Amino acid sequence: MMEKWLVGVDLGGTTVKLAFVNIYGEIIHKWEIPTDRSEQGKNITTDIAKAIDEKLRELDESKSRLVGIGIGAPGPVNMANGEIYEAVNLGWKNYPLKDRLEVETNLPVVVDNDANIAALGEMWKGAGGGAKNLICVTLGTGVGGGIIVNGHIVHGANGAGGEIGHITSVPEGGARCNCGKTGCLETVASATGIVRIATEKLTQTNVEGVLRTIYNEQGKVTAKDVFDAAKEQDALALEIVDYVTFHLGLALANLANGLNPEKIVIGGGVSKAGSILVENVQTYFKRFAFPRVAEAADIAIATLGNDAGVIGGAWLVKTKLMS
Ligand SMILES: [Zn+2]
Repeated sequence: MMEKWLVGVDLGGTTVKLAFVNIYGEIIHKWEIPTDRSEQGKNITTDIAKAIDEKLRELDESKSRLVGIGIGAPGPVNMANGEIYEAVNLGWKNYPLKDRLEVETNLPVVVDNDANIAALGEMWKGAGGGAKNLICVTLGTGVGGGIIVNGHIVHGANGAGGEIGHITSVPEGGARCNCGKTGCLETVASATGIVRIATEKLTQTNVEGVLRTIYNEQGKVTAKDVFDAAKEQDALALEIVDYVTFHLGLALANLANGLNPEKIVIGGGVSKAGSILVENVQTYFKRFAFPRVAEAADIAIATLGNDAGVIGGAWLVKTKLMS
């Protein structure tokens, strides 16, 4: 019998990542296409359908091999009908993604939020190691999150469950967040937040060191510069890493006290800092988590990188469309 393939799609603001994945979560083929954001993103679903057809043709495969599509979109999802409430990046508002993509592809479609499918991918094939109670936090330009309880994503009342990035970390006088609040975790622990904090410290103090030298040479520093300098024991960089991981550890501990997860997976560009990040977060997590909660929770760096989304999309197909 022909092996069936699941289609995972990770829809981002600049690229659409696609993959054919087998039922064991192994990627058979993966590729990407640019996201066409023109005309309020009206071409996106057609582009995805064409990309799938072209790839099948290229591989000389028939569409009957495909079970369906699991897609992650950058915005809150109405789980009842697969509509995207709003995806500011794409120009979508109350956009019927499931219906449009089903019409264009003639395949059944399951829709979820992009951070949520990344969490499912890590649960299935990545650092989650199959743990059914898991918190996934993605530290990139922003801070995304996905919470899995008993193997299921927490969507909440109107699709905003798992918005870990908007946990209030600095209640008074915090920096403005894209969501309209101030002091969100995202303003502290995203790459953007880390750069802001570093720049403030560099301009408001005159502590010398590796980070200062980079700043003087380049006129700016990146989040990676901060962690690299901290690894070289740069005093200012260590202070920044301590501040960032304090807030991350605190937020995760408070969240974990309500969920008692088995795994906490940290992904996104900032997570490339590796052990220095995990160890510092762990220290604060242990301080702020209920002892029994701390005992159960293993904190690890995500392992799937950019593939987490498409593998999570495939998981949705396997679990929602195959049984
Ligand atoms: Zn926010």
